[in-house]
Amino acid sequence: MFTVPVLCPTCFQEFEVPAPAPHETPCDVDYDCEVCCRPMRIFFELDGDEVVGSARGLED
Ligand SMILES: [Zn+2]
Repeated sequence: MFTVPVLCPTCFQEFEVPAPAPHETPCDVDYDCEVCCRPMRIFFELDGDEVVGSARGLED
């Protein structure tokens, strides 16, 4: 397993989250920020050969 950096939409701190396998993308997961503990949804997708993640707040 490897991790990808994600920017929290609430506290704007970057942290690492476990990434899904490339063949499992695109997908999204619910996750709690490791810094401020606010819930968010993280979308994983492939960028070339790499899995990248982007987080959105649930309150948008
Ligand atoms: Zn946060």
